[in-house]
Amino acid sequence: MLAYRMTAPGSAELRDVDVPETGPGQVRLDVLAAGVCHSDLAVLHGGAAARWELPFTLGHETCGRVAALGEGVEDLAVGQQVVVHAPFGCGHCPRCAAGRTNYCDLRASLPAAGLGLGLDGGMAEAMVLDRARVVPADGLDPVVAATLTDAGLTSFHAVQGAREALAEPDALAVVIGVGGLGHLAIGLLRALGPATVVAVDTREEALGLARECGADVAVLPGDAAAAVAGAGGHGADVVFDFAGAQSSLDLAVSLLRTAGELVVVGSGGGALTVSKPGVLPSGAVVRVPFWGSRPELEAVVGVARGGALTPRTTIYPLTDADRAFDDLRGGRLLGRAVLVP
Ligand code: NAD
Ligand code: ZN
Repeated sequence: MLAYRMTAPGSAELRDVDVPETGPGQVRLDVLAAGVCHSDLAVLHGGAAARWELPFTLGHETCGRVAALGEGVEDLAVGQQVVVHAPFGCGHCPRCAAGRTNYCDLRASLPAAGLGLGLDGGMAEAMVLDRARVVPADGLDPVVAATLTDAGLTSFHAVQGAREALAEPDALAVVIGVGGLGHLAIGLLRALGPATVVAVDTREEALGLARECGADVAVLPGDAAAAVAGAGGHGADVVFDFAGAQSSLDLAVSLLRTAGELVVVGSGGGALTVSKPGVLPSGAVVRVPFWGSRPELEAVVGVARGGALTPRTTIYPLTDADRAFDDLRGGRLLGRAVLVP
């Protein structure tokens, strides 16, 4: 079968590999769709993969159809459509035992961060994984379903983490970076609460997508301060930074209201100095959420089934994975790129 594998730092290529066998408690999926995340570029070109064994198949955002069941798996059926909860935990620590594998106590010492992140993932014709990482997702377009597992789940977890601040009367939320994650965050803010949403991006075309997803206002970074002032006058109750670059982080801090929440999701290399007094307003809360839990993925699937989330996708055949990665790298994509075998 074909698989898109990271073979060396900075290099990924399509390779012909054996179809993986299921072990006890495992499931084999025929992959239907696999999203391309900006984190895949960070893995490929940054230091994240330094501790992982190469090569491995990329793809941590996957929808598939159950093709084979390993010994002992009795609560799934061949042919069922599912999505993959890909973040790894040790499975035994108190955090994992509480279902929060994305915050495993042993995260820093695990041999891989997840499926497609050090272990074979979904950018392939098939994949094998433990039953516990499978979430039923029948009835959804598989391309849409794939995007829910990271772009949707990470956004959901980030928004839910700030739910108290977002429930304030006249709450104002700012979303910086309207890409794969950010456009779904806007949809989730719309679906889950009453907050006014100001969207910010450096690309005009992303601002159009932000408005389609339900942003009340969508502006370039230079116009963000005026937009936030015009939307309430006190600053933002919550700023979500889906870029995480120095310029976006500086902007995010400048837009924050006293006792506001800064939620940094993007890993764009920006840094923030915390000091008292300092750049953060009094009472500010800083969060750095990572991905999301399996129960949260089930909840996101439910939100999508209800019709409240409409991911914008561009479909590429798996054989065109290089082109999809190039388009993401070049800032030519709107929403999410999804590979289809
Ligand atoms: P993407 O490339 O699809 O979207 C990024 C968007 O941000 C683009 O629209 C881009 O124009 C915009 N942008 C870039 N720099 C900006 C700036 N300085 N100001 C305003 N807008 C800016 O990327 P994505 O797949 O949505 O991922 C977003 C970020 O989140 C990446 O850094 C990725 O690695 C990270 N990520 C984090 C988690 C987590 O769990 N914390 C999970 C997945 C992805
Ligand atoms: Zn653990």
